[in-house]
Amino acid sequence: MKVPFLDLKSLHHELKDELLEVFHRVLHTSAFVLGPEVKNFEQEFATYTSTDHCVAVNSGTAALHLTLAALGVGPGDEVITVAHTFIATAEAISAVGAKPVFVDISADCYTMDPALIEAAITSRTRAIVPVHLYGQVADMDPILAIADRHGIPVIEDACQAHGALYKGRKAGSLGVAGCFSFYPGKNLGACGEGGAVTTNDEALAQKIAMWRDHGSVKKYEHHFPGLNLRMEGLQGGVLSTKLKYLDGWNQQRREVAAQYDAALAPLGVLTPAEMEYAHHVYHLYVIETDNRDQLRQQLSDAGVESGLHYPIPLHLQDAYSSLGYKCGDFPVTERAASRILSLPLYPGMSHEAVAYVAAELHESCHVS
Ligand SMILES: *Cc1c(COP(=O)(O)O)cnc(C)c1O
Repeated sequence: MKVPFLDLKSLHHELKDELLEVFHRVLHTSAFVLGPEVKNFEQEFATYTSTDHCVAVNSGTAALHLTLAALGVGPGDEVITVAHTFIATAEAISAVGAKPVFVDISADCYTMDPALIEAAITSRTRAIVPVHLYGQVADMDPILAIADRHGIPVIEDACQAHGALYKGRKAGSLGVAGCFSFYPGKNLGACGEGGAVTTNDEALAQKIAMWRDHGSVKKYEHHFPGLNLRMEGLQGGVLSTKLKYLDGWNQQRREVAAQYDAALAPLGVLTPAEMEYAHHVYHLYVIETDNRDQLRQQLSDAGVESGLHYPIPLHLQDAYSSLGYKCGDFPVTERAASRILSLPLYPGMSHEAVAYVAAELHESCHVS
């Protein structure tokens, strides 16, 4: 049996008629950039995330970048985040000329360890960016309490957490802003690139909307030199169409995760923990084992694709060698990076496919 890591083809095939309808609409209006489809999606996604404003941009990286820019973060400033994330989190900080300052994660949930933040704060700290990794929101209450005490804004990297909850509240509604990616493989994905910022701060939303569109509100009136990071009209329509299915898809992800949990319980592998404060949406299902590389090879030999999120922590990437970090600086992050393995998981994944992956893991764990 072949088990892909994710299956975008089937998902889009099922929505083919609705998506072609979107394309027809956009062709008809020819509103290819921003326009009514994007405006409509912004309203729907603000409602979905229980926020007052949503600004659609063309990637999650852009969402993070423009939020930092609109908050006035720049050269000489520091932004606290984690090294156990996709590089885009740190790149957005670099893009505004600021310096990423990493803190370690908690071993049980792979998100920012609130106990380590205080020691990383300096007079130059201008923002804290926790990452809701794998579909589970970081432990926001202690993070927000520390940030509040220091008057530092918290920006959520919610690029993997569409629909995730923290104590019943939506990801993207907890900090001053939430940044989302609609890269095709995310829980809510465009048919191309996409991203958005959610916020309750009207002035901030306005500023980000100007940043994405050459510093303008009105065409050819530029209030500051901005950028072109606008969402395409087609993606707005696609995302509105797919948003209706997001909760159902997240529920299917949770069911696949539950089936894995049960099947893998007898093995010596660590399965993901859903924290008591969280409603996990399983963007990824990540296990931990001592013999990760061998297990990954055995799965591959059996036709099962898997992933590594992420094999090299950011503080050990060449891209960030200038920051001066070294091996051993973030032991929990480094240990996770060497042990984690992401198993196939996608909405519509069959019971048989999950059982097959689990059986192959049983086989591998007994052989090794
Ligand atoms: C996907 C992702 C991003 C970047 O989103 P893009 O749309 O690919 O630019 C940022 N942070 C995290 C945690 C992500 O998973």
